[in-house]
Amino acid sequence: MGMPGAGKGTQAASLAARLAVPHVSTGDMFRSMIAAGTPLGREAQGYLDAGAYVPDELTTRMLAERLAHSDAAAGWILDGYPRTLTQVGDLDGILAGAGAGLDRVVHLQVPAAEVRARLQARATAGRSDDLAEVVDARLRIYREQTQPLLDCYAARDQLVDVDGTGEIAEVTERIAAALGLSGAIPVQAAGRD
Ligand code: ADP
Repeated sequence: MGMPGAGKGTQAASLAARLAVPHVSTGDMFRSMIAAGTPLGREAQGYLDAGAYVPDELTTRMLAERLAHSDAAAGWILDGYPRTLTQVGDLDGILAGAGAGLDRVVHLQVPAAEVRARLQARATAGRSDDLAEVVDARLRIYREQTQPLLDCYAARDQLVDVDGTGEIAEVTERIAAALGLSGAIPVQAAGRD
């Protein structure tokens, strides 16, 4: 978890590769459906363009289908889901149905000023929902709808806060250490266990 631009996608991809599990990004799934022009993609496009969340029902249906694939049986790294309290409950239901559980929730902490700068750079690179006027909406929606999930997972003792500033590789090692993955240098966060 983390604000738009916190580095979720980048870090989730390398963590997934390291653990040899699929990287399941709802944002990537929506973008590829939009590019392919599927009915779901057409439905999602307006929400993404506006920086709004796609309705829970649609997002959860798509995610549940993805997690049911055989390649996800041994685990996964979720990126961008859950994003609302409703989705937290939906995910609990999906996992209960599969007899699975959530090991950890990694929260990448990056100051708002820095994510704005990063998103501005990404907009220049062509991602249309990173344009300045849409970024404000996304940051506000994150604060209103997603930030409360941090308290929820902290109360469940599953939240791991990681400093998301600095070099990409540095952040990757901080996450690995916080999750107690082998080869990582243990740091303070690993002691939350
Ligand atoms: P970012 O974290 O930078 O906003 P993502 O790629 O994770 O980027 O998400 C891009 C967009 O996809 C979101 O702004 C939203 O419109 C949609 N989206 C992704 N995941 C969800 C979700 N779990 N619930 C609702 N909408 C989502």
